[in-house]
Amino acid sequence: MRRVLSFILCSLLLSMSLRAAAGDSSRPVVISSFTIIADWIQVIGGEQFECVNLVPSHSETHGYQLNPRNARDLRRASLIVGMSPALEPWLEAWAKAHDRIGRVLWLVDDRQGGHAGHAHTGDPHVWTNPAEVKRLTRLLADRLGAIGSVKETETHYHQYVKEIDRVDDELRRLFAGLPANRRNLVTQHANLGHFATSYGLRVAGTILASSSAESADPSARHFSELLALLRREGIRVIVTDAGQSDAFARRLAEDAGLPPPLSLSFEYLEPAGRPGDRWTSMMLLNGRRLHEALSTR
Ligand SMILES: [Zn+2]
Repeated sequence: MRRVLSFILCSLLLSMSLRAAAGDSSRPVVISSFTIIADWIQVIGGEQFECVNLVPSHSETHGYQLNPRNARDLRRASLIVGMSPALEPWLEAWAKAHDRIGRVLWLVDDRQGGHAGHAHTGDPHVWTNPAEVKRLTRLLADRLGAIGSVKETETHYHQYVKEIDRVDDELRRLFAGLPANRRNLVTQHANLGHFATSYGLRVAGTILASSSAESADPSARHFSELLALLRREGIRVIVTDAGQSDAFARRLAEDAGLPPPLSLSFEYLEPAGRPGDRWTSMMLLNGRRLHEALSTR
């Protein structure tokens, strides 16, 4: 009897540890390229999926390099969700090399010049525009519903649309009060074009030429052009990317006689439990800080 019991116990422990090693195999694995998409998958998918995220909080998405653990997770995924081939070229390269293109959902397919019937300009930071986020999460809900429960996914999606609207309404009210001469700004890289369009702001120039946050240092000529632009247009706000070098922006602000650059983090969500750990709170935190700088500087 004791031998039988210990056999049962051993089998049980073995199957538990195997299951732990393989992850929770009872749920389909859904992978997000970075934290903002991870948030949407969790909010809309609920507990239906095992969610695995690739680029961690505070890391740079544009130039990310997959590690061996990421590659193992990607191979067992039922669905892999990325923003766009322009934002995550490394994910597209992996999918091509490993014959997984069919498992990747691009929320913005900029290879074909747009999605859902409209074209896109070069800026891949579509998530800074709430109206776009409703469209992106609609696409996501359709794909999650196809591998999980349509009913649960739809319920979550419709609740989330109300949250997106609340974020949009608050930001709209906030920026509506800004006078016309306080609506211009300069950003570190070209990441706020969609946000600016939503709230009637204008990104008059960018420090880095490409849409990536990690391009090479800009030239002395570009420095003097930006300095002239700041003076000519009376621009008082230079936005930098949290976690990225802001030496150039600081020198620019100093030479233009402006307050230090405003560091914002539209590129990722904070770890769970910190302010800005959801897309909704990230948008409001950054939006309020930007509004404060534009209205008081
Ligand atoms: Zn970016």
